[in-house]
Amino acid sequence: MKSIARWLQIFSKAFLMKMYVDNIWLYYVWHCHSLPDRSFNIEGRQFHVCARCTGILGGMLGSILLLPIQKHLIWPFAVSTVCLGADGLTQLLRFRTSNNTLRLMTGMSFGLTALPALIAVGSLLCHK
Ligand SMILES: [Zn+2]
Repeated sequence: MKSIARWLQIFSKAFLMKMYVDNIWLYYVWHCHSLPDRSFNIEGRQFHVCARCTGILGGMLGSILLLPIQKHLIWPFAVSTVCLGADGLTQLLRFRTSNNTLRLMTGMSFGLTALPALIAVGSLLCHK
């Protein structure tokens, strides 16, 4: 059991390095402020994107698994969009300071639901 956990740890670290640190297209394609205090680090190297964008991109990747239940994700997408917007906007207006965990979670929920929900809405609109 310990070897499985160790293998998962190694795989996760390698995946995160390939996706968020060594991935040069991410630097050029995904424009993000990448502020050091709002970005994650792994082995002393900063991700090319902030914590929120880390969540959005990771969620979008995982959302492929949710495509079969896309019709059920329209409301969760609306709620996650409001949460993401509220977290970002209240920080932008200096009402409060968010943290990287909250940024990651709001980004992840948005990323997980965005693609399936938008496909579901598009499908509903096309079949009327
Ligand atoms: Zn970002």
